[in-house]
Amino acid sequence: MTGRSITILQLYPRDMNIYGDFGNTLVIKRRLEWYGYEVSLISYNPGDKFPDDVDIIVGGGGQDSGQLKIQADLLKIGPKLQELADDNVPMLMICGLYQLFGKFFKTSGGEVIQGIGLLDIETHGKSERLIGNIITVSSQFGEIIGYENHSGQTYLGDNAKPLGQVRLGAGNNIEDDTEGAIYKNVIGSYLHGSLLPKNPKIADFLIEKAVTRKYGAFYSESIGDSYVECARRAASKRPR
Ligand code: GLN
Repeated sequence: MTGRSITILQLYPRDMNIYGDFGNTLVIKRRLEWYGYEVSLISYNPGDKFPDDVDIIVGGGGQDSGQLKIQADLLKIGPKLQELADDNVPMLMICGLYQLFGKFFKTSGGEVIQGIGLLDIETHGKSERLIGNIITVSSQFGEIIGYENHSGQTYLGDNAKPLGQVRLGAGNNIEDDTEGAIYKNVIGSYLHGSLLPKNPKIADFLIEKAVTRKYGAFYSESIGDSYVECARRAASKRPR
């Protein structure tokens, strides 16, 4: 151990955590431990006190009803999240929370769930659900492999940069082949699965940004990722 510690904050695990999204937090935690860091893991649910010191923030997907439940609290902590994002805190938001890090999600029933506008995106619920395995390419992390299940289709504004381009599946919407969005060290993506066990380059990006921000530099030893390669090979051969 290096005597150094990193705090991961899990946003709304009670309402926003489906299709294995909590696995993302477990991957970040375990890789940090392999790199010699101590990890503390904090859960944040509506009404909780927002912690003073956080190094990485992770959030998952949820049903429209879950998104409605956390909406008011998310809007309350939105300015704090924006401040942290502008201060380069790394974050990973999947599906339902990715949508609400944008301007709004208008559900297929016509209800508007307001987001915090940290990402310049907006999401419109459609009658067709986009479900299945998905592969994204041309991202800074190479090929990203996962699973999607959403009714919302997301459109990027002029100030949003996509995470990658879709090779298999839908991603943000069925029109423009983009997937996810990235702002500073904040990554939004539709990919469940969980995402990080099969895409540890993204975990290492979050870790490197967090450690560098806190301690000035990050020196990593190589982790034998042979199981990751097997999982990626198997998952990438699956049909849509
Ligand atoms: N409820 C949202 C939608 O259907 C998000 C779904 C999810 O997080 N998987 O688009």
